[in-house]
Amino acid sequence: MRPADAWIDPSQPKARAWVTHGHGDHARSGHGAVLATPETLAIMEVRYGPQRGQPIAYDETIRVGDVEVRFVPAGHVLGSAQIVMEYKGERIVVSGDYKRRPDPTCACFVPVPCDVFVTEATFGLPVFRHPETGSEIDRLLHRLHADPSRCVLVGAYALGKAQRIITELRARGHSEPIYFHGAIERLNQLYESFGVELGELRHTGGATKQEMAGRVVIAPPGALNDRWSRRLPDPVTAMASGWMRIRQRARQRNVELPLVISDHADWDELTMTIRELEPTEVWITHGREEALKHWCMTHQIKACELNLVGYEDEDD
Ligand SMILES: [Zn+2]
Ligand SMILES: [Zn+2]
Repeated sequence: MRPADAWIDPSQPKARAWVTHGHGDHARSGHGAVLATPETLAIMEVRYGPQRGQPIAYDETIRVGDVEVRFVPAGHVLGSAQIVMEYKGERIVVSGDYKRRPDPTCACFVPVPCDVFVTEATFGLPVFRHPETGSEIDRLLHRLHADPSRCVLVGAYALGKAQRIITELRARGHSEPIYFHGAIERLNQLYESFGVELGELRHTGGATKQEMAGRVVIAPPGALNDRWSRRLPDPVTAMASGWMRIRQRARQRNVELPLVISDHADWDELTMTIRELEPTEVWITHGREEALKHWCMTHQIKACELNLVGYEDEDD
């Protein structure tokens, strides 16, 4: 953002960075000053240690140079924000990563009509249509109850997805203890400190196979086929990701129970959002840019690909 001398989600250390959310590909370490929501700053501190951060609450407006800046909810993970900038009568919205469906762990996406909308396109192909989250959670519970001697091991991205799966399970009436891999412990605690209720959680370390039989176990995707999983009672391997729509991806990870649950907008959410915001221009940052660009053009909206490197949403 040149007139404000600031970078949004820079992949290299910068003197002044505005950060949309805490995922590692957007929030890097080593910046001078970081402007972000209090939740995102707290996530960065858990991951990288103390930050020279300036917290900005949702809907608070600040002025940087000639630019007015506001952060509004993006519905992606706890603290995730779209950055709304007004400069010389023009409004630009940088959405970072976002989704439109409800998520009990974070504030809902707020649509802000704008002149330029900068969007991701992780699932920017018409084949990507995520099913209802509740029906995916019901499939998980059905499988869990089908064989009480086994556990269901769910691979879920440590920031956001793991806590969302837990709260969605609670919302479907699952009140039993949920076991977790040590790698998500601090983020669970952080979510709870911001008021997200996760219910009774137990560390897998020290638990016996017998105790974990008939339970849900949540772990980062990298742990699914790891030695670590041998301590579990004959796990049914599940994975919660928008990529589970693609059978080959599920097979690559030996996933028996693919759950199509994503923190990114699917094709319908992307196109619905652009329709709703009515921008004159759309800039597409990362993902499957071509199809979305084509869709914009057929709807008389100017579109371009920014071809940004360094954003990876492979597990999301
Ligand atoms: Zn993200
Ligand atoms: Zn991303």
